[in-house]
Amino acid sequence: MWVTLRFMDCDLLIVGGGPAGTITALALAKNHRDLADRTLVVEAATHPRPKPCGGVISGRALAVVTRLAGPLQALSGLPVRRVEVRHGDQTRVHTLPRAALAVDRRAFDAALMVAVRRQGLRVRESTRLVGLERRPGGWRAILQGPRGRYEVTPRVVVGADGAFGAVRRFAGLGRGFSRARLALTDRPVQPTDPPADTMVFELPTDSGVAGYYWSFPVPRAGGPAVRNHGVFHHGRRPPHPLRELLAERLPPGPSPRSAVQRLYQPGLACAAPGVGLVGEAVGADPLSGEGIAGAVIAGERAAALLQEVFERRDFHWSHWSRRVLGPEVRVLASNAFLALLAYGPWQQWVSGRVSASPLLADVALRRFCGHRHSPAERWALLRRVVTAGGLW
Ligand SMILES: Cc1cc2nc3c(=O)[nH]c(=O)nc-3n(C[C@H](O)[C@H](O)[C@H](O)COP(=O)(O)OP(=O)(O)OC[C@H]3O[C@@H](n4cnc5c(N)ncnc54)[C@H](O)[C@@H]3O)c2cc1C
Repeated sequence: MWVTLRFMDCDLLIVGGGPAGTITALALAKNHRDLADRTLVVEAATHPRPKPCGGVISGRALAVVTRLAGPLQALSGLPVRRVEVRHGDQTRVHTLPRAALAVDRRAFDAALMVAVRRQGLRVRESTRLVGLERRPGGWRAILQGPRGRYEVTPRVVVGADGAFGAVRRFAGLGRGFSRARLALTDRPVQPTDPPADTMVFELPTDSGVAGYYWSFPVPRAGGPAVRNHGVFHHGRRPPHPLRELLAERLPPGPSPRSAVQRLYQPGLACAAPGVGLVGEAVGADPLSGEGIAGAVIAGERAAALLQEVFERRDFHWSHWSRRVLGPEVRVLASNAFLALLAYGPWQQWVSGRVSASPLLADVALRRFCGHRHSPAERWALLRRVVTAGGLW
């Protein structure tokens, strides 16, 4: 049955209630109230919903989360201050220049959605975008809710619907090819595990995985302490099944889950007149697979840009990705290139250098924390690289 619900009509439709969608909505509520009142957020699931994720958010996004969603204590995260990098029998521990936060994604995303509702925005959970077509002056969107199908006619649609979201597909923004495969599972903390404020990255010494293994702390109120273990493979087809590779390394327990990520791909469209993507709909970091911080930061920027385009009534933006990704676009683009280097045929050589070099580790961790190297710092780095033994 097709029902036109006029009272659900909106000027702006945000599809997806993960970090990208909720932060976009919260930034609108905080800074652009008028537009927030004309916005509808739809989420296919109902929070708290499961989300396969390591759950570590780099420090660079935490200020945005606190500013828009309230104190981080309410999100019951666990501070992460150190990173252990392992390669063969080599182990190095580094202190993060700015602490990250480990969160339970179910609880974190649900808390963001509660904050959105508290701001009085219109939200429909268990409501999925199932159709989208252009009409004069905007879009005709079809939503499947618990009580049937609805039609809404927004001026602008924001696709915050994750890796393989419907908005990219319906708006014809291209599928892209850059993917990562992952497997992950939780296990009780072992006596050999590092302290709870430490995340571990292990660079493999064989060619089974073009990527890395991780072990992250998990915040848990009550019950035995657990860590999240996973494997990230840069590319579509790992040579061995990842779930089996991961299970072999861990004590017995539930079978790992597998997942696929969209990675940022330079040149792949993420906007067209009247429609723009944020978060993993654009793509996660190609080197690490990190996506929460990027989604949060882009969400806040998207809200500011949306306000501007509604004020100017000019929806033919060609600058969406430049504005929404901001300076991060250069980091993402260079990481797309570095990933080919790090996980390609030279992986073993690169892993050896990265795990042994305090300089490379320092550069990587600063980038993870959001530090942008100044031209002077880049020049100093280059000098160290070309002078004998500078890298390691
Ligand atoms: C195994 C794994 C581990 C990861 N670990 C980390 C990590 O430790 N740190 C990190 O920073 N990143 C990590 N990531 C990446 C991170 O999870 C994502 O980049 C992040 O969730 C992106 O947020 P988002 O809001 O863009 O998308 P999502 O969190 O995927 O949210 C999209 C939302 O849109 C909804 N939706 C989808 N289709 C529709 C539709 N048609 N209509 C309505 N709603 C729809 C979905 O239900 C979902 O709630 C990991 C990813 C994976 C797969």
